[in-house]
Amino acid sequence: MYNLVIFGAPGSGKGTYSAQIMEEFGFDHISTGDVLRGEIKNGTELGKTAKQYIDQGQLIPDSLMIDILASVYDSKKGAKGMIFDGFPRTIVQAEALKAMLTERGEKITRTLNLIVKEEELMRRLLKRAEIEGRADDNEETIKKRFAVYENQTKPLIEWFRNEGVLTELTYDGDRAKMDASISAAVKAIL
Ligand code: ATP
Ligand code: MG
Repeated sequence: MYNLVIFGAPGSGKGTYSAQIMEEFGFDHISTGDVLRGEIKNGTELGKTAKQYIDQGQLIPDSLMIDILASVYDSKKGAKGMIFDGFPRTIVQAEALKAMLTERGEKITRTLNLIVKEEELMRRLLKRAEIEGRADDNEETIKKRFAVYENQTKPLIEWFRNEGVLTELTYDGDRAKMDASISAAVKAIL
């Protein structure tokens, strides 16, 4: 199975490009953000815990995320490919993903790092706030999420590079070009 990590700052387009790749290549998808928002909506214990972190722009504790990830992954066995959207977000999560895949005879096939300027990210997230009304898409919380990204998540780029799986794609303002780069990057691993 192809195991593709979609990586990038909040608002970089991880969800959007996951949808494109699912449609074009028939991959399945795990979005940890969507999983957590589903738990919140259903009022589960996990949802109650997650909400406290998400509303503050903080990450959910690694141990909790790692358990969730493994159970969702196992529930989607048999897919042609799997997209990891929003996971890993810390080095601990990356090591756990690697271990989980190794236990199952799998590995990270490739990571696509979506590089987008911070002003464009802010613009997109504020626009999304108007459309989707996500509680964490307000300017104050977005700034906290950017800081969390810089401190806890961005160091993973080097981790992926060391694993030899990193592909970097920079958005230069041309959406069609970015869409095509994503397709080409996925075709290259098939
Ligand atoms: P994008 O806009 O690119 O899809 P995002 O960062 O805006 O990404 P999500 O991936 O949906 O949004 O994550 C929303 C929140 O859910 C995070 O700020 C965090 O609190 C929590 N979360 C999601 N994935 C993880 C994870 N792997 N580890 C810890 N917390 C997570
Ligand atoms: Mg998302």
